[in-house]
Amino acid sequence: MPCAVARIQGAKRGRLSVDSKAGGGVRLELLDNRRSAAGTEGRAHVVMRDRVQREAGRAPRTPKRLDDLMTAMRAIDIHAHIVPEKFPSYTGVGRNIPWPSMAPAHACHAHVMIEGKVYRTVHQSCWLPEERIRDMDKGAIGMQCLSPMPELLSYWLPVADAQVLIRYLNEQIAEMVARHPTRFIGLGAVPLQDIEPALRELGYLVNVLKFPGIEIASHINGVSIGDPRFAPFFAAAEKMGAAIFVHALRPAGQDRIVGGMAEQVICFPGDIGLAAASMITGGIAERHPALRIAFSHGGGVFSFLVPRMARAWEVTPKMRETIPQPPGVYAKRFYYDTIVFEPAALRHIIGAFGASQIVVGSDYPFALGDPDPMGTISRAGLDAATTRAVVRENAERFLGRASQ
Ligand SMILES: [Zn+2]
Repeated sequence: MPCAVARIQGAKRGRLSVDSKAGGGVRLELLDNRRSAAGTEGRAHVVMRDRVQREAGRAPRTPKRLDDLMTAMRAIDIHAHIVPEKFPSYTGVGRNIPWPSMAPAHACHAHVMIEGKVYRTVHQSCWLPEERIRDMDKGAIGMQCLSPMPELLSYWLPVADAQVLIRYLNEQIAEMVARHPTRFIGLGAVPLQDIEPALRELGYLVNVLKFPGIEIASHINGVSIGDPRFAPFFAAAEKMGAAIFVHALRPAGQDRIVGGMAEQVICFPGDIGLAAASMITGGIAERHPALRIAFSHGGGVFSFLVPRMARAWEVTPKMRETIPQPPGVYAKRFYYDTIVFEPAALRHIIGAFGASQIVVGSDYPFALGDPDPMGTISRAGLDAATTRAVVRENAERFLGRASQ
């Protein structure tokens, strides 16, 4: 069924569709949020219901209240995801491989199927560039970095299978970038469960597809990215000038959640904090000072970890053998996205890491992201120089485009 757009009294502009799974009930999604519901099942419904209620009482958002400077800057959103419209069939030799596929869902949506189950129900903006661009224009986003939905990073697949899937994803992103080179930037994927193929794919992304960098997860099958086994990968990325965007995935602590809140909500901040800390404690940040690396979700708990690490570093002489400089020195070289939701929290990470290290992130088009990153920045009351830095200049530096 084609998407219909309607105005609902007391609500904002939305998209109505008939939800066959919910017995033909009518479903409203707020176009305003540039998001689709994460699905029709359980938690996602609650998230969307809460958002509808919250948004209905909120003042009209952007772009009216964006100042001219922010609009003129053409923001670069480094944290946005794609899911392809379809996946190739599995042609490997493995058995019971959790190879993804797509299945039809309600209007404008599709189910991402993994192991015969709905992993997530996604909106067509995951693969339709024109739809994304419309939403970007509404939210005053000039360019989006496109990276795979993290669950597609496939570190748990046999490497031969992962190589096929990851190459397919990278080509899909490249196609979107080629169609709209002024609006999209590619951040690809590599099969990091095996360093050699990962390095080959990194070379392909940088040299052939001309991507400025890649997305990796906060850990590779339970091993933090700062582990020495990944050092050759980061050495190569530094040498090639490839930007690394680290995204929380399959986080630690899921077994400790009480109630129905998603692990992305409760556990992502801790997991991305672990990843960032490991880059310092493992010595990679010290050995590769030119590495450009960004952490998702504002670095999660990392802004609170760094002062604790600094204290430990001061009182533990042995620690200075592997970490020659105070932890904060390395932390202020990393980049962090703005997905912290509260203007006060945004001001906090700017204070913790520096105005030069914060970059716009939205998590588009997923429901748990910041539906209005430019609004969050606007409400933070930053001065003009900081706004310019956060909205665009820092991202250009992170992506190695600063001289362009
Ligand atoms: Zn994300």
